[in-house]
Amino acid sequence: MEFQSLSEFIPFSHKPFIVAGPCSAETEEQVYQTALQLSDIQNVKVFRSGIWKPRTRPNSFEGLGEKALPWLVKAAKDHGFFSATEVANAHHVELCLKAGIDILWIGARTTVNPFTVQEIADALQGVDKPVFVKNPVNPDIELWVGAIERIYYTGNCKIAAVHRGFSTAEKYEYRNAPTWEIPIELKRRFPKLPLICDPSHITGKRGLLQKVSQKALDLDVDGLMIETHIDPDRALSDAQQQITPQQLTQLLSKLVYKQQEGITQREHAELEKLRQEIDELDEKIIALLANRMHISERIGGYKKQHQMTILQLERWRHIFESRTRQGSSLGLSERFLQKFLENLHKESIKRQEGE
Ligand code: PEP
Ligand code: MN
Repeated sequence: MEFQSLSEFIPFSHKPFIVAGPCSAETEEQVYQTALQLSDIQNVKVFRSGIWKPRTRPNSFEGLGEKALPWLVKAAKDHGFFSATEVANAHHVELCLKAGIDILWIGARTTVNPFTVQEIADALQGVDKPVFVKNPVNPDIELWVGAIERIYYTGNCKIAAVHRGFSTAEKYEYRNAPTWEIPIELKRRFPKLPLICDPSHITGKRGLLQKVSQKALDLDVDGLMIETHIDPDRALSDAQQQITPQQLTQLLSKLVYKQQEGITQREHAELEKLRQEIDELDEKIIALLANRMHISERIGGYKKQHQMTILQLERWRHIFESRTRQGSSLGLSERFLQKFLENLHKESIKRQEGE
């Protein structure tokens, strides 16, 4: 597939390319003021705002709909930005085209559904506007690729993929697990397809934005989408993850392009990819260990209540043997496993004793 590069369809001169703006349009003033404050940041090229909001639970703020479209268009135009919003059906597409929105994006909850993506693609037939395709909520690269293909087959090569993380059953540090190997695989399959990372929806918390934005840059993404609000704590959606335009300026100033003499960024990115995978696995291992210790505490409580001894030798022998067997079969050394299990057991006993 022949994709255009991001700078071919959205010219920009300051890297990283930034998409910023509120999660949702709430009032005309809020939309306009956010764009005004963002206009000081040279990296920001696209002004985003949700008009129709897919909310997990009913009775949450579901966006203002059609009436907010002209606010977004005007705020973007007055400050030299491209406007962007999410479309979730053909009707949204029609309304956006009529209102003059520059860029449409397909949200994570839509990418999972090929019927809806096809409906949107049909409404976009022959339309020459950039389309961003967010990853599906579930970690299935084929659905992501499928949605990109459906848009591409309308004759559109102005497409960017947006990595916003994946929903997982086990909750850990992030709102949506980055699972970096999926965007990396997407890049491997389509090296020319622009890739934008959305750390706001990955982290769900503003405190983690710097770290994840840096990781994304280390992976050589083309840009970042960061939710920005003039008064984030009072935002009607995604309050915890939004930042002010001033905080966005600070975040951008602290980002570093890791580049070493003699090593091109792309070569370096190869090493970074592997490190990202290690970082993510370590985060998961630590979260799992913490989880295991919480369960140990509950077991400790149970044993106390039933006047059982903390150390149950038979059980410990079973754990030791079965885990060593499993680990050995996966290529881990027996000595390493034994040391690890002994430590794990020691800590678990302490937790059961309530120390
Ligand atoms: C958003 O960008 O505000 C949004 C709803 O994103 P996602 O589809 O990634 O959840
Ligand atoms: Mn949001």
